[in-house]
Amino acid sequence: MFATLSDRLADTFKNLRGKGRLSEADIDATAREIRIALLEADVALPVVKEFVGAVKERARSEEVSGALNPAQQIIKIVHEELVAILGGETRRLRYAKSGPTVIMLAGLQGAGKTTLAAKLAHWLKEQDKTPMLVAADLQRPNAVQQLQVNGERVGVPVFAPEPGNGVGDPVGVARASIEEAKRKLHDVVIIDTAGRLGVDAELMKQAADIRDAVQPDEVLFVVDAMIGQDAVTTAQAFLDGVGYDGVVLTKLDGDARGGAALSIRSITGKPVMFASSGEKMTDFDLFHPDRMASRILD
Ligand code: GDP
Repeated sequence: MFATLSDRLADTFKNLRGKGRLSEADIDATAREIRIALLEADVALPVVKEFVGAVKERARSEEVSGALNPAQQIIKIVHEELVAILGGETRRLRYAKSGPTVIMLAGLQGAGKTTLAAKLAHWLKEQDKTPMLVAADLQRPNAVQQLQVNGERVGVPVFAPEPGNGVGDPVGVARASIEEAKRKLHDVVIIDTAGRLGVDAELMKQAADIRDAVQPDEVLFVVDAMIGQDAVTTAQAFLDGVGYDGVVLTKLDGDARGGAALSIRSITGKPVMFASSGEKMTDFDLFHPDRMASRILD
């Protein structure tokens, strides 16, 4: 996903190799190159401006430490600033103090929510949790069945609408699922909600109604990292319409430009918590800003 950005930055740093000391002109030229590389990677303009400003300021003012040459010093600064825009620390899931932890997924249709729900369930199982999946996406034909198939793949039960479980009513299904989880002693409930092809008021209201009914411990906004700048716009719309605690980036295995991944934290103020990067159930993990920055600068 970050191949082009990585190459561009590597070229930029190559130009600094062998220099004993960086002149003002060197710093300006480097900052310009970084700016272009980030813009080409589709990083949002305000984020680019802040990033480049910070790198420039630090490159001018910081003492070059003995062990590093000027090029290495710049790379170190860029690495640290990348970690910062990616959110700094890894944000881990917060579990409920008592009763099942309720995680609600929200996002557009096609973002990868249903796939992600199963990946998350699989990941939780590996952490010795006993999750349950909830099919509250009653909009998209086959969504319930798709979740059931995925649930079976990872060996996690799926709570689906049927008589008594709130047929045709996503809020009723979500509410009933919490009771079921308590009865069956599941410690985490993952609720898959309906998406639409675009942001619309009805979608937001339904998600907000489910949120109000079940009071999730974590609302996760799931977004396809391949949709570029639209990811940031959508993230903002969901923040205003539903609100969420963290972001899950899906399809990081794609070859799109990846700017969304770099912009979303700064624009929304919400941490990226998980990254999903493929069709396999194991292509999923906590999002580690430090590792991602290293990957970009590798
Ligand atoms: P939903 O509408 O949000 O529930 O999205 P789905 O889970 O049905 O995913 C939409 C499409 O994206 C499906 O074809 C998935 O197989 C695919 N998909 C989901 N996650 C990933 C991912 O991380 N990488 C890739 N390459 N494809 C994915």
